[in-house]
Amino acid sequence: MTEPRIIVHGGAWTIPADRQKAHIDGCRAAVDAVWGELQRGMPALEAVRLAVNVLEADPTYDAGRGAVLNADGQIELDAAIMDGATLNFGAVAAVRSFLHPVDIARKVMDTEFCFLVGEGAERFARESGIAAIDPAELVVEREVRLFNELRARAGFSTHDAFRPQAVTADGTACNCPVGPEPAMPKGTVGAVALDAAGNIAAATSTGGTPMKRPGRVGDSPLCGAGTYADNETGGASATGFGEGIIRVLMTRSACDFLRDGGASPDEAARKAIDLLHRRVSGHAGLIMLDRHGRYGVHCNTEHIAHAYALPGGGIHADVDVRR
Ligand code: ASP
Repeated sequence: MTEPRIIVHGGAWTIPADRQKAHIDGCRAAVDAVWGELQRGMPALEAVRLAVNVLEADPTYDAGRGAVLNADGQIELDAAIMDGATLNFGAVAAVRSFLHPVDIARKVMDTEFCFLVGEGAERFARESGIAAIDPAELVVEREVRLFNELRARAGFSTHDAFRPQAVTADGTACNCPVGPEPAMPKGTVGAVALDAAGNIAAATSTGGTPMKRPGRVGDSPLCGAGTYADNETGGASATGFGEGIIRVLMTRSACDFLRDGGASPDEAARKAIDLLHRRVSGHAGLIMLDRHGRYGVHCNTEHIAHAYALPGGGIHADVDVRR
C-alpha cells in the first residue's frame, strides 16, 4: 500500500501582500478538505476533483467564482483532469454557466471523448445532471474593477507584454514583462494526488488571463501543457501565461524529466520552468508529485500559492517556495 499525498496550487504571480493570507488559507483549506478521505482510501482522481472544487468556490482565485473577465467582460472557464492509471483525460473550455468546470471535465472522462468546448460542453454538463448557474454569480467586484482599469488603457493587451520573442543571436531571449503591467493578477488552481493504490491524478481549473480574447484557450485544459498525470512517472499542474506553457508542453516535460534523468520532483519542476524560460521566455509555476510520493514546487514568478499534506501530519502552505 502506498502512502497518499496531495499538493495544490492557487496561481503563480506577484501576489500582493494584502492578498497573500487568503491565497495561503484557501490552499490549506483545499488540502484539508480531502486529506482525511484520501488517507482512508479515496481515489486520487476524486481527491483532485474535490480539492479543485474547494478552490473554484473560493473567490480568491482565478477559477470558478472570482475568475478574471475576458475582453467582452465575460467569464470563460477552462478545466482538465487526468487519471495517471489509465491516461484517461477529460477537459472543457470556454464554459460560462458553471461554478465547477472540473466536474464537467470529470464527466467527459466517462465518454468516448477527451475535450468539449463552449456550448457543446455546457449542453453536455446539463445532460449529465450538473446544475448550471447564472454567469453573473461567478463575477466578483475585484475583477470588474480590474476589467474597467484595463479597458481604460486604449490598446492594452495582457498578452502583448508576454508575447514570446525570437531568440537573439547570443541565445538570450528575454521578453520579461515589458508592458505597464509587469505582473497581471492570476490565480489558476490545480491539484495533484497519489492514492493508497499508487494511482496519480492531476486537475487544473482557470478563468484564463485577464482581458483574453473571447474563445481563447490557455494551457490549463490541454493535456501535457497545463495538466498531466502518468503512474509511470508522476503528475503535474501548471500556472502562468498559457501561450508559453503550451509551446513547451510544460507538465508533460516535467514528468518526462522524472523518467529520463531520474530527477527528483523539485529538480524536474525546476528543469521544466528553465525550459519554459529558455525557449519562450515564459513565466510560470508548477506543482508536482512523483510515484514515490515526493513533492515538487517551483516558479520563476515571485510567488506561487501552494499547500501540501506533510507525511508526518499537518499541512505546509505558503506563497514562497522553499529553495
Ligand atoms: N495558465 C492560465 C492560462 O494561461 C493562467 C494562469 O495560470 O493564471 O490560461
